[in-house]
Amino acid sequence: AVVLVTGANGFIASHVVSQLLDAGYQVLGTVRSSEKAQEVLKVHDSHQNLNAIVVDNITDKTEYIDAINAASLAPPKAIIHLAAPFSYAVTNYESDLLRPAIKGTEAILDLAEHYQVKTVVHTNSFACIYDAAAGPAPGKTYTASDWSPLTYEDGVKAANAPTAYRAAKAVAEMTAWEYMRGAQNQPAFNLISLCPAMVFGAFLPGAESSSIAKLNESNKLVWDVARQGRDGCIPPTKAPVWIDVRDVAKAHVKALTMSEKLAGKRLLLAAGVYCNQEIADAARRACPAFREVIPVGETGKREADTHFKVDADSASKMLGIEWTSLENSLKSLVPQLFGIASRE
Ligand code: NDP
Repeated sequence: AVVLVTGANGFIASHVVSQLLDAGYQVLGTVRSSEKAQEVLKVHDSHQNLNAIVVDNITDKTEYIDAINAASLAPPKAIIHLAAPFSYAVTNYESDLLRPAIKGTEAILDLAEHYQVKTVVHTNSFACIYDAAAGPAPGKTYTASDWSPLTYEDGVKAANAPTAYRAAKAVAEMTAWEYMRGAQNQPAFNLISLCPAMVFGAFLPGAESSSIAKLNESNKLVWDVARQGRDGCIPPTKAPVWIDVRDVAKAHVKALTMSEKLAGKRLLLAAGVYCNQEIADAARRACPAFREVIPVGETGKREADTHFKVDADSASKMLGIEWTSLENSLKSLVPQLFGIASRE
């Protein structure tokens, strides 16, 4: 079956595409330029089941339809919607974060109806669950039943880009569920919402970030620890919940095969909470070649009791995926990060 994957060149999407191809799916990836289409094909060795099309404006359903028609490709039977801005280097929260996330979601749902697909997997975020205003909340365990209270207005007027990003993700997800409840016309497809925590992990070969400056926001958190030098200071932990990128990709593929069972569900994808000292400790253990340049800090010190926890088990059980350990995740990522930095 043909699966449309939006933002196919993205960090998570590249792993999703790879696993879909391995599982025998026909993949139709969308990107924003023909250069990026070529790059996507290259990363996946021009796999015969992969096509890449250019959809520059993800908020316009007709751009997708025109691109699919122009390339004479078979229409999708499922959609995995990953394209959305995840960057804090933005100036206008409304046009750079909120609109593409929310209007992009609406366009995808309209497209799903147009093609009468069976399943839409919507890549949301722990940001849609987390309530920053509640503070560190030790004793609280966030689950997939929790909702961020952030509104569109909160996003527009946010004091900083991370808050605006979280609002964009939360409102985009709410928009999707409201769409499904639509009074006149109840869509026939299954909607599954996946809410990953901060996603860490290696880039696929050939898909590494071209520079540290262009590093995706989540792997940047790991680099901010690793780069400090052996005796450097470990920065405060910013977003203390994480998951490995391969597990996130696996969850997307499983969502397709478990479409009926997961229809209408929201899954929190998190391996657990972490602190930056833990990243340093795990990276030093996992990467002997870089042991002497990764900060030592206060080895073994943990912040676990100073803030909330997350339910890491429900989605793991439901999907039948055992989450990768932090050490295992950093083992392949950290050497790549030092490699990117050394080429600059
Ligand atoms: P990347 O930045 O690597 O990929 C984002 C993708 O979305 C790219 O293909 C990018 O295209 C595309 N995109 C961004 N802004 C726009 C826009 N305005 N119009 C069209 N396309 C756009 O991010 P990730 O792989 O990390 O994230 C993918 C998805 O997962 C996002 O929805 C993100 O919110 C979500 N997510 C990520 C987490 C993480 O920790 N990484 C955690 C939870 C959720 P281009 O390359 O052309 O900019």
